[in-house]
Amino acid sequence: MAAPEIPIDVDPATSIWSTDGLPMMYLPRHFMVNMQKAVEAKIGPTAYRDIVYGSSHLSALQWCRAEAKTHSLAPLETFRHYLKRMSQRGHGQVSIEALDVEAGSGTIVARHSAFALGYGPEARRCVCYVFQGSFAGGMRYLLECEGRADEPLCHEVACLAAGAAECRFELRCEAVG
Ligand SMILES: [Zn+2]
Repeated sequence: MAAPEIPIDVDPATSIWSTDGLPMMYLPRHFMVNMQKAVEAKIGPTAYRDIVYGSSHLSALQWCRAEAKTHSLAPLETFRHYLKRMSQRGHGQVSIEALDVEAGSGTIVARHSAFALGYGPEARRCVCYVFQGSFAGGMRYLLECEGRADEPLCHEVACLAAGAAECRFELRCEAVG
């Protein structure tokens, strides 16, 4: 085992955790998986997937904007930093297999996805859809930096919880205007 690679500060007065000035929460994986399962049971996976797509998209965008300023990173460095931090925070080993910013497309791979491992192979479906909005939001940041309004879309096309060797996400872009 190894120690975390991310800097974590804890305010002794409030017990608030932060990394690079951004407040963080450290949660058991089962907390996130149980929450997703509970919402799916109530409104169905499709409805929840659509809701969380928007919230994770916004969160990625906010994260990239803040981190780019904090570390003075160029847009592509920021996107790579985002995926690296996801990996370092235990979401899974996230890497870029292909990326074409001009086209707004790419392939992102997540190995040992926390959601897929939390659900297990008995899920027999793609369960890491929280990441879809995250990767689309990261791509949106790249396009935003170029002053483009095009809307990236992301879809999990293979999942460890559906029997695949790894989770794979395809990014494509819809032209706007
Ligand atoms: Zn997955």
